[in-house]
Amino acid sequence: MTKYIFITGGVVSSLGKGIVAASLGRLLRSRGFSVINQKFDPYINVDPGTMSPFQHGEVFVTDDGAETDLDLGHYERFTDTSLGKYNNVTSGSVYQHVIKKERRGDYLGGTVQVIPHITNEIKSRIVGATKQFKPDFQLIEIGGTIGDIESLPFIEAIRQFKSEVGIGNAVSIHTTLLPYLPTSGELKTKPSQHSVNVLRSYGINPEVLVCRTTKPIPKTEREKLALFCSVPKDAVIECRDMKSIYEVPLALEAQNLAGVVLNALNTENRKANLKEWENLVERIKNPKKVIKVAIAGKYTKLSDAYISVVESLKHAGYANDAAVDIKWINSEECMDYETCKNLMKDVKAVVVPGGFGVRGIEGKLNVIRYARENNVPFLGLCLGMQCAVIEYARNVAGLKEANSTEFDENTAYPVIDLMLEQKNVQGYGGTMRLGAYECHLKKGSVAAKAYGKNVISERHRHRYEFNNEYMKQISDAGLVFSGMSPDGMLAEIVELPELDWFVASQFHPEFKSRPEKPHPLFKGLIDAAVKRL
Ligand code: GLN
Repeated sequence: MTKYIFITGGVVSSLGKGIVAASLGRLLRSRGFSVINQKFDPYINVDPGTMSPFQHGEVFVTDDGAETDLDLGHYERFTDTSLGKYNNVTSGSVYQHVIKKERRGDYLGGTVQVIPHITNEIKSRIVGATKQFKPDFQLIEIGGTIGDIESLPFIEAIRQFKSEVGIGNAVSIHTTLLPYLPTSGELKTKPSQHSVNVLRSYGINPEVLVCRTTKPIPKTEREKLALFCSVPKDAVIECRDMKSIYEVPLALEAQNLAGVVLNALNTENRKANLKEWENLVERIKNPKKVIKVAIAGKYTKLSDAYISVVESLKHAGYANDAAVDIKWINSEECMDYETCKNLMKDVKAVVVPGGFGVRGIEGKLNVIRYARENNVPFLGLCLGMQCAVIEYARNVAGLKEANSTEFDENTAYPVIDLMLEQKNVQGYGGTMRLGAYECHLKKGSVAAKAYGKNVISERHRHRYEFNNEYMKQISDAGLVFSGMSPDGMLAEIVELPELDWFVASQFHPEFKSRPEKPHPLFKGLIDAAVKRL
């Protein structure tokens, strides 16, 4: 029978609840339990797919094509489990479903209300994921901060759910902040007490507190928290700021978080096998070299916008005993080639990530041209691949004004064009080519060597594609199309095998990299960069 762990957050947002949920998932997995994570987001958008990366950070895409919260990326990376559309639930999707049922007449004249109709739908999403995965433990993180109006239906659903499954089958972990006041030299517990009081006023008594803090929690503060928040002393878990997020599971293990949770769930503790994870953290903490890698995109002010790309680069670094030092290059600052050259001078590799719209495109083309002409290892992702094709078409294949119809509808050489299946698509939500598709690799290509196989499956999120009318002209000029869809119609990977590393993919490899298993395309990039040191 599945047992449930609910994770709420108090005092402030951005506490790292997602990392705590992912870390606890890893700690339970390392004890041989099966685990899945789920994220509840209280906003009204049906999914984050339509939100600006500036506001919401990256949109994480699952194998089954769901556009989800970036926390799902952490869950997948920490627990090495592939998740899907059942793992991210938003208020928007819950209301959309209930309203659809109401319009269909399913409620037979009844008044449709938050309680029980919305809360029932939320509970059915919990159970739906349980039925699909049948895990030993299901960890459910509730976005937002306790006290927010919009998360109330989720909290109420949890209250009901906890009492329905009974004591010992569900627990709540409340993550809070202990601010440090330098003037008095104290960690303050009052905000956490208030936050727990609010949670209790909703009918939920947390069994465990995870406290974010910059300093160790002294015994007296620990006792105070236990007393005022009605939890045992050993259930007050300290979560200090760490240099790397991958250290968090070990820090929480040292505080016996999993043991406390298992005890509250009447489940016998098991010995954790964290050997590999410990080796990983050892490598992370003791890099033998530093590699400067540029990410040239337009959302550079918010690194969360490219979080899976950043993590994938780090993973490939770990495999090389190297720390990756990211240099953020705003592609809009590269519109002038001389400025671009200067910005690129000190980098050992460059990634041009995904994106939408014309802003900064000419800058990205300059970055790619510089990488190609100077043999700087380059990886293009989705839009980055489309830009690599445009750059090659313009500067090598002689198609001077080549472009994507996304940026210039009337371009003389539309080397990138809207996919046929996209031509009649209406609306923006969930309508791109999404999720995992197979791709066949050309034997002996750089890509095939990197993957060590000829058939792969990768995740997509795009509307435009390479226009096959230009296949002959551009491949005659030297660009190798080394990955194609199984029907041979869709270009998935391009490469220049004569360079140290020049590979670009229409898909997003960054969604499948894991800390202990770096993605082959990122590993190839960083391996090539290391060789140049
Ligand atoms: N804008 C491009 C397209 O829709 C690339 C998308 C992306 O990079 N995710 O095809």
